Amino acid sequence: MILVVDDIAENIFSLKTLLELHSFPTDTAMSGEEALKKILKNTYALIILDVQMPGMDGFEVAETIAGYSSTKNIPIIFLSAVNTDKKFITKGYHAGGIDYVTKPFDPEILLLKVKTFYRLYEQTRELNDMQDILKKEIEFRKNAQTDAQAKAFELHSTLELIPQIAFTAKADGTIDFVNQRWFNYSNSSNVFPLTHPDDADINIEWRKKMESKEPLQLELRVKKIHEEQYRYHLLRAIPVKEKENIVKWVGTFTDIEEQKQASRQKDEFMSIASHELKTPLASIKAYMQLLERQVDGNEKTKTYVERTLSQINKLNILITELLDVSKIESGKLKFNMTAFDIDSLLSNAIDMMQQTYTDYEIIRKGSPNVQVIGDEMRIEQVIINYLTNAIKYSPENKRIEVCSAVENGELTISVRDFGIGISKENQANIFKKFYRVEDTSHKFQGLGIGLYICAEIIKRHNGRYWMESERGTGSTFYFSIPVGDQ
Ligand code: ADP
Repeated sequence: MILVVDDIAENIFSLKTLLELHSFPTDTAMSGEEALKKILKNTYALIILDVQMPGMDGFEVAETIAGYSSTKNIPIIFLSAVNTDKKFITKGYHAGGIDYVTKPFDPEILLLKVKTFYRLYEQTRELNDMQDILKKEIEFRKNAQTDAQAKAFELHSTLELIPQIAFTAKADGTIDFVNQRWFNYSNSSNVFPLTHPDDADINIEWRKKMESKEPLQLELRVKKIHEEQYRYHLLRAIPVKEKENIVKWVGTFTDIEEQKQASRQKDEFMSIASHELKTPLASIKAYMQLLERQVDGNEKTKTYVERTLSQINKLNILITELLDVSKIESGKLKFNMTAFDIDSLLSNAIDMMQQTYTDYEIIRKGSPNVQVIGDEMRIEQVIINYLTNAIKYSPENKRIEVCSAVENGELTISVRDFGIGISKENQANIFKKFYRVEDTSHKFQGLGIGLYICAEIIKRHNGRYWMESERGTGSTFYFSIPVGDQ
């Protein structure tokens, strides 16, 4: 908007009309004082200022405007009846654009000047706006940089404090920070610690994860530069993301040698203990069987001997399972692969269970006429295990369904019960070693290793295993193994 200041109403009228005719929004003031009030309140692109006014004259107004930072850049065109000395004008008003027009003025010339000043004002405003934006941007970047530096400093200090070997890397995998501990294992900050020749190559695994953008987790042996002995470490590296983009990686090597040794000792102990228990147990069983044959007539003794034999069988199964676990751990679980008929295996297993658990009703569905290549005893072990669990965890609803079917080159066997079921949050770990559902474990005996062994057996047959269950409704345990083209 343009402000026209003149004490004569006709002058104001003719100027306002002229300007508005050329689409310049115009405001007016009839004295220096009124003009000042308006200037301080509103924003003007240009002021056309009459020099000779009663009270505050044009020069005084200009001088005052120049004193305020918000108004000092408004251009001014002075209107004067006489040709005043220009020195006089510039004295009071340095900053903004300035011009001088004598009355009576030529409207075209005045308009030309108005247009020039108006454009000048607009450009200056745009420049100022741009400068403001740039200033803010610089400020923002500065702050962001300071923030990033502070965060990095904090992270590096933490990584120096922890007892692990630690490092950070850029998004492309280039290592950009290592803690002091790193240098016990590597001479250079961009070379990973030396690993045992039999373990995975860190560089290869690292590059793979850079491509897949997934966290890295590896157990491997690394050694200190001046030592001969390797120690097991758990290498873990996770990507740090900002708005879905990986900005860096943070990694640690944790010494797990002691846990590894403890676990090895535990496995060895389990293996020795179960071996040692097996032999005397076999003798006890043999003597009991002899005794069984000799008790004739005495019903009570007969019942006791039968119960003892049944408990010996349970103990035998437990020891065999423990032995299986230690064989899995040491990679010594052997498989005797042959071709066998799955139908007769299923019939035998179901018959045997039905005879033992006469109060249960085991229903068989489907009879796939296929030959399976696998370890017959181990597959039977899986089916018996699924059946034993179905019976054990269904103390009330005594119906069990065993289904078998072949589809897409896969034999699938499932055992369904209508027992206590397993809640969703407990299902994920069900096939893990020593896992038992906590809230029901006190009611049912067990070690939590049966399903772990089943999983291992199925894996070794290149098969799949899974389960479906609902708390209180029952469970179905499945496994599938490839049967090839029949
Ligand atoms: P356990 O000796 O404890 O039965 P398993 O490895 O066979 O060990 O089973 C692990 C856990 O899975 C069990 O403790 C039990 O909580 C749960 N589970 C297995 N089968 C069933 C089933 N059919 N119904 C309900 N829970 C089951």
